[in-house]
Parts: sequence; structure tokens; C-alpha cells
Amino acid sequence: MENYSVLIQKQKEFFLSGKTKELRFRIQTLNKIRSLIKTHEKEIMETLRIDLNKSDFEAYATEIGFVLEELRFTLKHITKWVKPRRAKTTIAGFGSKNYIYPEPYGVALIIAPWNYPFQLAFAPMIGAIAAGNCVILKPSELTPKTSELLASLIRDNFPEEYIAVVEGGVETSTALLKEKTDYIFFTGSVPVGKIIMEAASKNLTPVTLELGGKSPCIVHKDANLKYAAKRIAWGKFTNAGQTCIAPDYLYVHSESKDEFLKYLKESINELYGNALASNSDFTKIVSDRHFSRLTSFLDNGKAFYGGQFDEEKRIIEPTVLVDVTWEDKVMEDEIFGPILPVLEYDDIFDIIAVINNRPKPLALYIFSENERVQNKVLECISFGGGCINDTVYHFIAPHLPFGGVGESGIGAYHGKGSFDVFSHEKSVLKQTTRFDLPFRYPTTKNALRKI
Ligand code: NAD
Repeated sequence: MENYSVLIQKQKEFFLSGKTKELRFRIQTLNKIRSLIKTHEKEIMETLRIDLNKSDFEAYATEIGFVLEELRFTLKHITKWVKPRRAKTTIAGFGSKNYIYPEPYGVALIIAPWNYPFQLAFAPMIGAIAAGNCVILKPSELTPKTSELLASLIRDNFPEEYIAVVEGGVETSTALLKEKTDYIFFTGSVPVGKIIMEAASKNLTPVTLELGGKSPCIVHKDANLKYAAKRIAWGKFTNAGQTCIAPDYLYVHSESKDEFLKYLKESINELYGNALASNSDFTKIVSDRHFSRLTSFLDNGKAFYGGQFDEEKRIIEPTVLVDVTWEDKVMEDEIFGPILPVLEYDDIFDIIAVINNRPKPLALYIFSENERVQNKVLECISFGGGCINDTVYHFIAPHLPFGGVGESGIGAYHGKGSFDVFSHEKSVLKQTTRFDLPFRYPTTKNALRKI
């Protein structure tokens, strides 16, 4: 197992030099990353095509474009974010002023997954750099071409004592986690999230865990079914369902199920109807292990749509399963593939109870025209974030912090949230020396009554 103590020591020394805290240096770095991305946009798209068969549209919309927007937003606001903020004072602190200083932690370790291998590596890195940290990034071994490109872009443009990409799999992660870093930002599965937290606890290193789980999507009887179908089809089947916030399963009201399914079929045909064609742009499944895991679900319930696959290309066409129950294997864990089970319900309170009996989801979607139904769902179910009458789009809003709750994660980022996650808020009280109130001290008679 490699030893990363030398690298981490180098980063600690560079951090202590104070360079990474200089606002000009942070802005320069962010601008450099932006121009690197723009210059190498085609190569990034190519590696995403090789690793995952991502179409150029998806590569831009969900990876490159998203990261460029995070950069634009950060560069626009960073000058304001880095400043100490005034906070209120109470009578007990008479004469003083209160301030909150955002300060970087030091060396931030970022461990990224494979499903959006560019975006989920670079978006947290932008926050870490904006906040003034050094960064060690460990991208996923399952998308090797993209990881290799990220590593060479960083290696060729930044000294390793500032930003370093360490490629490798579980062994590499494990070796990195053995060392003491100042912050760990992990995106990945729930079981590995637990390993990360355990490792972090040995050094009391603060963590952000961006995890997954089964995200429900509810289609109520009064929903705009046509829009619901199209927005669900896109949210589920983009990236072949390998999206942490994809609707994992649907709960459709029994009165509208047939009509909704008709629209869903039309939408899938329109958006992804040629998934198995030879020149298909449909994203492939990342590995043989995931491919066989997913195809084993195809005999659960009954295929209403799709169900075909191409083992050689590792493509599974968009598949909708009906007549599924909670006893089926497909309902056990997060599906993370282009398979959408549909369950039905009659009473919204029944499904609220079902969802509340499970781990808190990362995302939840409710399609309904009735505000009382929408509010009831929001009020009664705890989940990381989600949408009313849409899917996935809450992820791209820089003003909305993104993260899970309970088993779906700890902490949130995006926009200012990314700066905040990588900053410690140092609280400072600045006292006046123009006077010294006597009632602060026990030598004053009845001091407490005077306050
Ligand atoms: P994963 O947990 O298998 O791997 C994530 C990272 O951890 C990789 O870099 C991997 O090398 C490393 N890793 C794997 N096993 C490890 C171990 N035992 N010790 C230390 N490090 C280890 O996750 P994945 O398969 O790459 O990604 C899919 C999962 O990530 C899904 O559950 C999905 O929901 C979740 N996810 C969450 C978000 C989010 O923002 N909340 C985003 C994308 C993916």
C-alpha cells in the first residue's frame, strides 16, 4: 500500500505558507481551472464517451456546463464570501463587536464516484479552492480515462503541494484515509460512506458525505400527467439512471396509472427510443458487475416498456416494470440503472407511512396540482432535497444547498454552500478598551442583578 504522508506533509507546509488564503491566488486558480476546462472540453467529452458512452449533450449539460456555472457563480461572489461578517451583540457583551471569519481547514481530501466523474470531482474542488484549502482528489477507478485526464490536467498545471490527483481504487482510498487530513468530502455509496466516517473518526476529521439511496417519485391523481411523464423519463433515464437523485421508483395513483403509463411510453420513445441502436447515444452501464446486478432485476414484476439489453456494449434499454411489490429484489436497494419500477396507491397517507419506514431519501419528487397534497408530503417526509412537479433540477440551482439527510448523507454543497462546507466559521469577539464595565466581575456587589 502506498504511503501518502509525504504528499500530505508537503500540502500542510504549503497551506501554512499562507499562499492558498490569498484572495488573488484563489481567483487566479479558479480562472485557470476555467480556461483549462474550456481548452480541454473536447477531450473531457471524449473520455466521458469512452468510459460511459455519454453523449456530448449529456456530457456538457450535466458535467462540463454545470462545473463552468459553479465557477462563474463562485468567481462572481468570492470577494464577498471571504470577508469577515459582522454578527449582532447582546447587552452582556456591551462594548464589543462580533465577527465571523471564514477560514480554510487546510488539506481537503475529496473522494469522488464514477457516475459523473468530471462534475463530482471538480465541483467540490472548486469549493475547496475558493475557501482557501489545498486539495487531494481521488477520482473513481471505474472511469479510468476520465480520471487519467483529470490527473494529467492538474499535474501539468498545479504543483502537487497545492492540488494533487491520486488515481486508484479501494487500496488508494484506504491508504489516503490512514493519513490525517483536515477535511474529507466523500461522494459515493452508503456502505462506503460508513467506512469513510469510521476512518475520519480516528482523527476527528470533519466529513461531508454525499450518499445515495432509494429516491421516491409520487404521481398524484391530479398531476399534469403529460409533463410528469416527460420530466420523470428524463430524470430517470439520463445517464442510464446512474444518477444519485434519479427517481428510483414511482408511486402512481391508481386512478391515473393507465393514462400516466401511456404518456410515459410516449416520452421514453421520444427521448430515448433508440437506446439499443448501433449509433446510440444512450449511456452504458459502468461495469460488468453493475450490468449483471441490473439485468437480474428484469424479471421482477412485468416489463411494461423495454427489458432488452446488449451485453457486449453494456447497454440496458430504458425499462419500466409494473406489478412490482416491496418483496421484489429491485425494491431492496438503490437501483442506479435504467430500470423504473412502478407501484400504485390509493391513499397518499399510506405511502407517506411506507416512505417514512425506510431510510430518509436523498431526493423526493411529488407531482400534483394540489398545494395541500404537495405541502402534506413536504411536511411529513424528511428527505435531502427534491422537486414539486419536476425531477433532478434542484441539483443545478446554485442557491439551493445540495445534500442528503440521515442515511442519504451529511452536509450540503453547491454555490455558496461549497465555500461554506470547506470553511470553518471562526467566531471572534472584539472588545473595546475605551472602558471596562465593573459589573462583569464578581468584585461588583450584586453584579448579576445589574446585567
Ligand atoms: P462507491 O462508494 O463504490 O465509491 C466511491 C468512491 O469511494 C470511489 O472513489 C471508490 O474508489 C472509493 N471507495 C470504494 N470502496 C471504498 C472503500 N472500501 N474504502 C474507501 N474508499 C472506497 O460509489 P460509486 O459506485 O462510485 O458511486 C455510486 C454511489 O454514489 C451511489 O450510491 C450513488 O447514489 C452515490 N452518489 C451520490 C451522489 C450525491 O451527490 N449524493 C452523487 C453521485 C453518486
